[in-house]
Amino acid sequence: MSLTDITAKLKAREISAREVAGAALDAAEASQGALNAFTAFDRDKTMAMAKISDDRLAKGEGGLIEGAPIAVKDLFAVEGVSTTACSHILDGFEPPYESTVTAKLWDAGGVFLGKTNMDEFAMGSSNETSYFGNVVNPWRAKGSDAPLTPGGSSGGSATAVAANFAYGATGTDTGGSIRQPAAFTGTVGVKGTYGRASRWGAVAFASSLDHPGPFAKTVKDAAILMQAMSGHDPKESTSLPLDVPDWIAAASASVKGKRIGVPKEYRMDGMPDEIEALWQQGVDWLKAAGCEIVEVSLPHTKYALPTYYIINPAEASSNLARYDGMRYGLRVEGESLTDTYEKTRAEGFGDEVQRRVLMGTYVLSAGYYDAYYLKALKVRRRILEDFEKAFLHCDALLTPSTPSAAFALGSKSDDPIAMYLNDIFTVTANIAGVPAMSVPAGLDGSGLPLGLQVITPALDEATMFSVGAALEDAAAFTHKPEAWW
Ligand code: GLN
Repeated sequence: MSLTDITAKLKAREISAREVAGAALDAAEASQGALNAFTAFDRDKTMAMAKISDDRLAKGEGGLIEGAPIAVKDLFAVEGVSTTACSHILDGFEPPYESTVTAKLWDAGGVFLGKTNMDEFAMGSSNETSYFGNVVNPWRAKGSDAPLTPGGSSGGSATAVAANFAYGATGTDTGGSIRQPAAFTGTVGVKGTYGRASRWGAVAFASSLDHPGPFAKTVKDAAILMQAMSGHDPKESTSLPLDVPDWIAAASASVKGKRIGVPKEYRMDGMPDEIEALWQQGVDWLKAAGCEIVEVSLPHTKYALPTYYIINPAEASSNLARYDGMRYGLRVEGESLTDTYEKTRAEGFGDEVQRRVLMGTYVLSAGYYDAYYLKALKVRRRILEDFEKAFLHCDALLTPSTPSAAFALGSKSDDPIAMYLNDIFTVTANIAGVPAMSVPAGLDGSGLPLGLQVITPALDEATMFSVGAALEDAAAFTHKPEAWW
């Protein structure tokens, strides 16, 4: 059932929020051994929130998502619940405060279902860098039992929605961490314009690239969740001081006459035929829906990944400097203060996090700052200008979400460069801060989901939702993973 369906049933009192929450918790907990999608539950908290929803619903009151269980990526602070960013260094941290995004979802009536597994500090594309071990994708290739990655870094949230435990989930997207796992699990994944959803209370990774956003079963559900979690937050300096438009209405608006840009630089050498074919299918669907298709150029696309992998580690190394064993989480006592810092960080951070801290510190160091970091900022400006110019000729861009379907766990974990290539179609939207979403659009030859990506100009999430909904209608993607867990 979609979020829209379950909230209608709750409102009609055909089922209680406590029944829905209890069933969701039971199913989620029972799947842990097989899927490992969650890192923490708090049954008392969940049931107490569900009771509040039941009380509101009984009075004919209630918010946009009243009574619906929502899963929360372990990057968002939920008051009194373990929040570790799936890192050993935050062991035992229970924030005494609530992130803005989750606070807004609870205000809208959402019921906390559990914290979801993710790559450590959101660094990764396969969920394999988590201190809690990887998540397993609920989908399997036809005729195979081989465990697949759900994508990353928000693999647990994507799985919680794909496997029907949660009616929506929060994620964060710094280079693709909502859209890539959404594509790998047959779910809808969205990030808005930079600053639409507040980063306050979400563990910082690369602050100028981090975008909170939802996972959902349908485009309309995604619009509802995005609407509920967005809005100006005086506590966050980059939060946009703007009202939230009616994205729910946009999700059923016509796309007739919209100009859809197809960026020629996204046609990469060695791209699998199936991805190419799906992209063409998307073009045909939108044409049939009354859109005009134009070819556009984003000439600096080839510099996007190198630029991202300078800016991202630079910001990460600076953000992660706060984990020193003094204030929260793990402390490994050493012989001196410096020794304690070193031992704590050596033991508390995994390999990928240490790699980013080293790269970031290097590109920010006095001798290399101009050559790498400053240069990357200049290229970032060029990439943003590419989008601005392309959007003079079109209202939205259509691209594949990922260069492949979900891959086998372990197949790329020893090769950071191969792992980074997963983000080839997604990082540009983070670099430019523009809205982007992934919509499930078809299956590959082995029966695994593939997504199409819609990117729109800054602040025009409305067009993104209407184009996304047009793709969803045309694709009529109703496939679900078989429940083997
Ligand atoms: N895979 C990318 C990275 O490792 C993106 C992660 C993200 O969006 N959080 O940085």
